[in-house]
Amino acid sequence: MDLARLRSVGIVAHIDAGKTTVTERILFYTGVERRMGEVHTGTTAMDWMEEERERGITITSAATVCPWRDHSIQWVDTPGHVDFSAEVNRSLRVLDGAVVVICGVAGVQAQTETVLREAERQKLPWLAFVNKMDRPGADFGGAVGSLQERLGVAAIPVQIPMGEGAEFSGVVDLLEERALLWDLEDLGSQVRQEVVPEPWVEAMTVARKRLCEAIADTEDTLLESYLENESLTAKELRKGLRQATLSRRLVPVLCGAALRYQGIQPLLDAVLDWLPSPLDRGSVVGEDPQDPNTEIACSPDAKAPFAGLVFKIFHQPHGDLFYLRVYSGTLREGDGVGNAGTQSVERVGQIWRMHADHHERISSAGPGEIVVLPGLKSSRTGDTLYAKGHPVALAPVCFPEPVLRQSLEPTSLSEREKLEAALEVLVREDPTLVVETDEDTGQSILAGLGELHLEVVCHRLAREFKVEARAGRPWVAYREAPLRECLGQGVADRPLLEGGRQRVEATVRVVPAEATSPSFGPDLVADLPTSLHDSLSRDLPTLLRGGGEQGYPLACFTAHLETLCWTPEDTIPAPELALGAVAVALEHALAESTVVLEPWMSLRVEVPENHFSGVLADLQARKAEILDLDVHQGERVLHAAAPLSALFAWTTELRSLTQGRGSFSQTPAGYRPRPESENH
Ligand code: GDP
Ligand code: MG
Repeated sequence: MDLARLRSVGIVAHIDAGKTTVTERILFYTGVERRMGEVHTGTTAMDWMEEERERGITITSAATVCPWRDHSIQWVDTPGHVDFSAEVNRSLRVLDGAVVVICGVAGVQAQTETVLREAERQKLPWLAFVNKMDRPGADFGGAVGSLQERLGVAAIPVQIPMGEGAEFSGVVDLLEERALLWDLEDLGSQVRQEVVPEPWVEAMTVARKRLCEAIADTEDTLLESYLENESLTAKELRKGLRQATLSRRLVPVLCGAALRYQGIQPLLDAVLDWLPSPLDRGSVVGEDPQDPNTEIACSPDAKAPFAGLVFKIFHQPHGDLFYLRVYSGTLREGDGVGNAGTQSVERVGQIWRMHADHHERISSAGPGEIVVLPGLKSSRTGDTLYAKGHPVALAPVCFPEPVLRQSLEPTSLSEREKLEAALEVLVREDPTLVVETDEDTGQSILAGLGELHLEVVCHRLAREFKVEARAGRPWVAYREAPLRECLGQGVADRPLLEGGRQRVEATVRVVPAEATSPSFGPDLVADLPTSLHDSLSRDLPTLLRGGGEQGYPLACFTAHLETLCWTPEDTIPAPELALGAVAVALEHALAESTVVLEPWMSLRVEVPENHFSGVLADLQARKAEILDLDVHQGERVLHAAAPLSALFAWTTELRSLTQGRGSFSQTPAGYRPRPESENH
């Protein structure tokens, strides 16, 4: 495959902005689907999960390849709901660029903003498509403004709409200075190019001047040319815009109405013209799995050693599908490859290229390609696969800690095994989902990122896995952590065979730390006699797995073993005895200062002006901290932080407070001490 002719792109959109409709049009015009899928008749090809069909949101990432103008575009579907932010981040990682679909009436909305901030963080080039220009209230200038205001990006129109709302009739291409029109009869298959009609000439001149200035501003030779000729040619604009988009100085903005088949082909052109190929993206840096300090560059070169990232596992009755992005080298059928995460070897049976609802078996896959490997044995989401002898770990995908837990009780004994098997599959697919067993009751506990996250899992258990289980009410994942540095001492002793007693004394210091999972510092352990060293390095971490004084899992500190001494001095104590002394010392150190921490969420809430005071009062009653207030196109935008425990069923509450017109997104925002009054 010619790498310069490959694009890996995701569509990012707020729910209802038109992502599915845009995708269906793309599949039709590129010839992948022979029938035009329509959202309202339930025939869409990308939304192939039942869950998705019911809820109208995209939960899993599917990938599909479309040909366009002698290029291949690989579409990776990104979920829109923020309860699935881990999936968003993961699918963004394997993209080279993104298309952001925004609603021409609403502009940039809360969830899109969250996803785009992540895209910016990952330095992903993107372009925007302002959809629904045919809807009453559509406002192209407002939508472009919302990109600038909310995301602080330099959004620059490369098209303008001919009319808005009911008048919308087509778009003006500012580069070529021509009108593009579509007909309903042929479902928009032919793009008619015409001279720009008189009423739009002036608006075009103004917008094109702005485009020229924005592009001239990004490059000296273009600036000179612009100053000399007071304009730039279409060719100059193309070259400048490509560079400026790749370097993320400009975000090109297009427009249309996907429902009415308007604006899709130019969007496909834009993906090829402005978004990067794997070559433009260049090398991706990984590390040596044995030595994280050694960087290894994986270049998009078919002859380099193979390296790829498993970014998605999709469970199917006939066996799991493992989605892989190849970063360098070539993967061939039958290859044995290493897995940096599990330290095991996998054999690659078949390689599939995915098309919305079917697959094509291919014999090899090269850099930039996104393929499915059916039937891998032990790989998990986020694992790197590499050519034997060339181990590399591409920076692991970081997952947020689960903040909500829920018990699951099988309805009968025979269901238990089914439940356990199903949960195992789900956890492999979704690393943000954690399954634990309650030691007292033996119940399975499901832990995830939010109410919707857990709800979806329960639905899938019932529908896909046919498991009957009762789900309990979700509860918040509290933690216990020391607030300050503390020292504790512990003693353990026991009789010696030869008479007398052996006594071990330990001191442990606990130091508050950022990372949620607690750990033991290496310190002293390294200097101990081998027998103690080996068993303590293995067993110390287990001490941290138990709960704290108040029964919650320990978090946010490092423990340091400061001293470990024993008498009689010439008898090395049994490892269990040493471990016992350390356990007591740790307990004492923690008893000094732990508090219960609760997860907080940061919120972005959008409400119409007339419902604002009600929502504000409700949030304040929930002890939310109001951080910022904004007005955007007649809507109030509110940034707040609140304890997760105060947000149960808030989706429903917000709906009723705003007659269904408010929306919000939330992301985990760390832990804070729980107020004393709530401790029990
Ligand atoms: P998604 O949630 O982002 O996948 O959005 P969908 O593609 O499912 O579209 C949401 C709703 O908006 C559906 O009822 C579509 O028919 C409608 N829709 C999508 N594109 C347009 C458009 O260009 N104009 C209008 N008026 N409605 C649209
Ligand atoms: Mg959809």
